[in-house]
Amino acid sequence: MSKDLKLDTLREEASDCQACKLATTRNRVVFGEGNPDAKIFFIGEGPGRQEDDTGRPFIGRAGELLTRIIENGIGIPRSQVYIANIVKCRPTVDMKMEKDRAPDKEEVAACTHFLESQIDIIKPKVIVTLGGPSTKFVLRTEEGITKIRGKQGEYRGIPVIPTLHPSYVLRNGGDKSPLKRDVWEDIKKAMAIAGIPIP
Ligand code: SF4
Repeated sequence: MSKDLKLDTLREEASDCQACKLATTRNRVVFGEGNPDAKIFFIGEGPGRQEDDTGRPFIGRAGELLTRIIENGIGIPRSQVYIANIVKCRPTVDMKMEKDRAPDKEEVAACTHFLESQIDIIKPKVIVTLGGPSTKFVLRTEEGITKIRGKQGEYRGIPVIPTLHPSYVLRNGGDKSPLKRDVWEDIKKAMAIAGIPIP
């Protein structure tokens, strides 16, 4: 079976998943998107409002920053990487769905088999985790993201570079934030592992 077909089958399975309570508040399952042969796999924590509305990952303000990092920094179209989250439905604080939160342990436990299968199918050269929750899951660590960012780890033999979540950068100075330099340093490490020339 081709990678495309395997991912389509998995996407279909996720589309009506009821395995955790997020199924009761979501509008859309946000499976993930990108190149099945991607060298770099970006992993965030969960969909926000715009992602829940559209079914696409990282399309809000944080997504715009990630897209700039990929297209202006790495120098490849966003469609050439793969982007997904550790949970596929939007975690919110209440049924009104006004405020996002990090996924809880039960939600992560129920959902991450989808992500693990995506990684198994795509077999990227490097994984970049964005923020604390995805880093904790992928690297099985309790260390905070500000301490662990940039330190290479491993997931089932695949190198992992943890970095800050774009929304954290936006909350701490946005485009003028010195944190952007930290993220870029981490991204350059991922590019070197993936064999992508650094400009
Ligand atoms: S978050 Fe994951 S496990 Fe929970 S309902 Fe959505 S797809 Fe299923």
